[in-house]
Amino acid sequence: MRAIRKSTHLSRQLLAANAASHVRHNSSVAAPAKPLASVLIANRGEIALRVGRTAAEYGIRTTTLYTDPDARSQHALSSPYAVNLGEPSAYLDGDRIIQIAKDQGCQGIHPGYGFLSENPVFARKCTDAGLTFIGPPWEAIEAMGSKSKSKDIMIAAGVPCIPGYHGSNQDPQHLKDEAAKMGYPVLLKAVKGGGGKGMRIVNQPDEFFDQLASAKSEARNSFGDEVMLVEKYIITPRHIEVQVFADKHGNCVALGERDCSIQRRHQKILEESPAPHLKEEVRQDLWEKARAAALAVNYEGAGTVEFIFDNDSGEFFFMEMNTRLQVEHPVTEMVTGEDLVRWQLIVAEGGRLPLTQTEVEQRIHERGAAIEARIYAENPAMNFMPDSGLLLHLRTPTPSPTVRIDAGFVAGDEVSSHYDPMIAKLIVQGPTRAAAIHKLRAALEAYEVAGPATNIEFLKRLCASPDFVAGHVETGYIQKHRAELFAAEPARPEVFAQAALGLALQEQQQAAAHRGVFFAGPPVAAAGFGAGFQQREFHLVDLPADSTAPTPPPTPVQIQQTAPSTFAITVGATHFPSVTSSLAPATHTLTTFYPHTRLSTTFIRAGDRLTLFQHGKQHRLQLALPPWAEKALGVADVANSVLAPMPCKVLRVEVREGDAVRRDQPLVVIESMKMETVIRSPVDGVVARVVHGEGDLCKAGTALVEFVGEA
Ligand code: ADP
Ligand code: ADP
Ligand code: MG
Repeated sequence: MRAIRKSTHLSRQLLAANAASHVRHNSSVAAPAKPLASVLIANRGEIALRVGRTAAEYGIRTTTLYTDPDARSQHALSSPYAVNLGEPSAYLDGDRIIQIAKDQGCQGIHPGYGFLSENPVFARKCTDAGLTFIGPPWEAIEAMGSKSKSKDIMIAAGVPCIPGYHGSNQDPQHLKDEAAKMGYPVLLKAVKGGGGKGMRIVNQPDEFFDQLASAKSEARNSFGDEVMLVEKYIITPRHIEVQVFADKHGNCVALGERDCSIQRRHQKILEESPAPHLKEEVRQDLWEKARAAALAVNYEGAGTVEFIFDNDSGEFFFMEMNTRLQVEHPVTEMVTGEDLVRWQLIVAEGGRLPLTQTEVEQRIHERGAAIEARIYAENPAMNFMPDSGLLLHLRTPTPSPTVRIDAGFVAGDEVSSHYDPMIAKLIVQGPTRAAAIHKLRAALEAYEVAGPATNIEFLKRLCASPDFVAGHVETGYIQKHRAELFAAEPARPEVFAQAALGLALQEQQQAAAHRGVFFAGPPVAAAGFGAGFQQREFHLVDLPADSTAPTPPPTPVQIQQTAPSTFAITVGATHFPSVTSSLAPATHTLTTFYPHTRLSTTFIRAGDRLTLFQHGKQHRLQLALPPWAEKALGVADVANSVLAPMPCKVLRVEVREGDAVRRDQPLVVIESMKMETVIRSPVDGVVARVVHGEGDLCKAGTALVEFVGEA
């Protein structure tokens, strides 16, 4: 076993000399002791695909795992060797996964991140079973697994830690006394915590016990452990972390730093390298301390040492070490030009690190800046609440050597509520930070996702936020810039006009296709709206991002066909006397020539919900019922039922008797005048009876669904 080395206050020169002397350059890596020919990937989603990509590039056979909800997911389909684990939580079943690896003849296991990656018991069992765990030795995982024990090790290794109490006395009064000593505000943290969970800020003494109870309960539920530490809460911090790599030969390099200060709920959403406005000597000091941290636990493989940087004092402190590859590792790959999964495999096989510290610095110097945006199915306007559901439409920017997309999904896939709602990561590189931000913004504008709510619009605003562009980042950035980041931006009349054109043209195409099927004749040239549909009126609601906010009144849009592809449109007080428009069904692209401009819009319709992408911006509209029909809707006093607003056919019933429904939840989808309309619940309540089923024809005023009172 390698001796524990302590790196305390090495000067920069010493660090460089040190790096040069004990890290040998190895472009001609000596034949590894144990080449890996087959690996089991014990993870899901984009990281499983990411690992598989590198493995495939080096001819390593991979076995993937999936669960029932993941059976048709991209990672499950990515390898001919795929094993079903069954229930959603089975990715955590380490013993079973080890058995599968043995049965499948795998030599190694790559744990990805999350799940089993930081579980020392699992890592140890892999090793005991004769499998190569592609990660650090279990002892290092264990040493860093506790936020309190790891701090003791760091203090001994000369790495600065945040003032705080991380001892074993968990008596609430004792913890409170410790808090008083360091002075408020303080931060309570679960020592076994991760993913921003089990953490509470305490601003003053009288809220201490309440916050302690709440942090403990979250920690117990998430990690099955409620041991807490208390530390000084830094008021304006930055999160700066260092990617480190170590091999089995005593070499250890820092692959630059990443600034991950743009966070919500203590979780990262934008990560970048290099960290903006960081003094060179501080940067070098961070790298040195990160290497010292890794060496203090005999580290091997990829790891990240997280620091909190105090913007007020310029000091930084060790926060924790994540003993795995991280979500944001592509940022480092962009600025170093290296494949970190490849490095993990080299280390696991017993090879030497491919670059020295000096070479890494050279690379970083040459390659400029990189930023990653995490694309989540979540609603920023509703406190970043996770969302799930079918990806109705998905179009990504064009990948290139400087625009990378690591995604786990394609259009038609389901974002499952069983797992993390991250849809993809978008990583860009540019010669400077400013260039990288421009590129990120452009790439986000080309990123189209319809279906679940996403944070893409929010990310675009971040990219345009002046303080972010200026590099004035801190972990409280989103909170402090709320007004600017969440300002409402009402849709322009052209958006409503495009939506109405999309609806009209799609109806025409469907009608034409219908005729084609039944009469098998030649396509009807320049099909009009058909008799009686020469003129249409749509009522469109510009949906607020926050679905609990009051819905604005619908905007009436009149559309009249004047020639085969020509229309006159009126949106409120705005009139477009003559536009020509066409809809390409395969790409959902609606192209319209207005007198002053051409607009290309992606038009996606699902029931009464419309999603439009236009000029790099997403708009979500709802097709409302015309006011006369709206009047017929609602819960009638006597019958307590929802009535058919117009003569219609029931297409689908979305609820069952006994279901509890929320206001606005879809109840029934009807078809009337060739248009689908979703009938939504006017109240929170319980469904007493579904009166009409699929296929039923109903007169206006017929009861569709009956309710039991109000919930
Ligand atoms: P990082 O620290 O790599 O920047 P996170 O802390 O957000 O990223 O966690 C990495 C990933 O692992 C996330 O996708 C997160 O949801 C997932 N994860 C974290 N803890 C667990 C766990 N106990 N079980 C399953 N997934 C987890
Ligand atoms: P996790 O294991 O959940 O990632 P960390 O200890 O890494 O927990 O902290 C997560 C985030 O919480 C940090 O990125 C930072 O934004 C914030 N944070 C952590 N410690 C402090 C502190 N002492 N003062 C202020 N903010 C902190
Ligand atoms: Mg962390």
